Amino acid sequence: MEEKACKNCRFIMKSHGDVCPLCGSNDLTTKWNGYIIVLNVEKSEIAKKLGLKVASTFALNIKT
Ligand SMILES: [Zn+2]
Repeated sequence: MEEKACKNCRFIMKSHGDVCPLCGSNDLTTKWNGYIIVLNVEKSEIAKKLGLKVASTFALNIKT
């Protein structure tokens, strides 16, 4: 994977940068796999389970 994912909130970075635009964390990694596209946070069970609060693309598995 080329895109970086935020270890803190799972947000997948679409642009190059060192800081997550969602939570402000700089703890990013390219070592992740699988992703979920959340279109409607209120109606998505997995979004609730993962604690996601915005409609975006998030990594499912992040290697620590
Ligand atoms: Zn983040």
